[in-house]
Amino acid sequence: MPKKSKKTRPVIIAGNWKMYKTIEEAAAFVKTLVPLIEGSKAKVYLSAPFTAIYPTAKLVEELKAPVVIGAQNMNDAREGAFTGEVAASMLKNAGARFVILGHSERRQIFGEDDTFINKKVRRALSEGLEPILCVGETLEERENGKAYEVLQKQIEGSLAEVSAEAMSSMILAYEPVWAIGTGKVAKEKDAEDAHHFLRELVQNRWGKEAAQGIKILYGGSVKPDNAANLLVEADVDGLLVGGASLAPESFSRIVNAFSG
Ligand code: PEP
Repeated sequence: MPKKSKKTRPVIIAGNWKMYKTIEEAAAFVKTLVPLIEGSKAKVYLSAPFTAIYPTAKLVEELKAPVVIGAQNMNDAREGAFTGEVAASMLKNAGARFVILGHSERRQIFGEDDTFINKKVRRALSEGLEPILCVGETLEERENGKAYEVLQKQIEGSLAEVSAEAMSSMILAYEPVWAIGTGKVAKEKDAEDAHHFLRELVQNRWGKEAAQGIKILYGGSVKPDNAANLLVEADVDGLLVGGASLAPESFSRIVNAFSG
């Protein structure tokens, strides 16, 4: 059994549904999940596809469910002629409270760079949406000893011109690319070292208060049987879960892996 660690920051377990779940499937998930996480000590976040945000946020409100609904992406512009894009204000209006930005699938498949991600982070903050900024190295970068260099570059680029005050309420997700959807979870010590490195970076650039306030989640092949051990680590403030967030049974077991 993992030892209990005294957490000084709220613990967040966030599900990333990616391009899965219709409106009906999202509703069925929430209805099944709610009784399974009763009494949970963690804050539960669910990032739905755009089409399911509004009805799922409404349902959560009706059920008074302890679940926060968010999005997985947005455009950096306030509004405009950007066919197919969605603005932060629209997400907020639909009931989203947070947004995942800079996920490695956005970086790798859709070519998003730190400059673009930075514009999105600043837009999300100015519209009152809580960003979950994802950073993480590829396997090649890790094997070449470049993991921390990559993390530093992503943090400096994606968070340029973000104030210390905003930083203290930000959420980061350390998601090593080689661990996402692969079944290869990071060793607890490697995750803790990377989180510690990120917190130090924040402290050096934005100060102690920002470093103590910022929440850093781990993501990459989190499952019910490895969640508790990851959560024991001092700088792991929660988990970002892809595949295992698609079924309420596995997701609730991850939520309940945090015992407070
Ligand atoms: C993710 O998509 O953010 C993720 C961590 O996926 P998985 O849990 O499936 O590795």
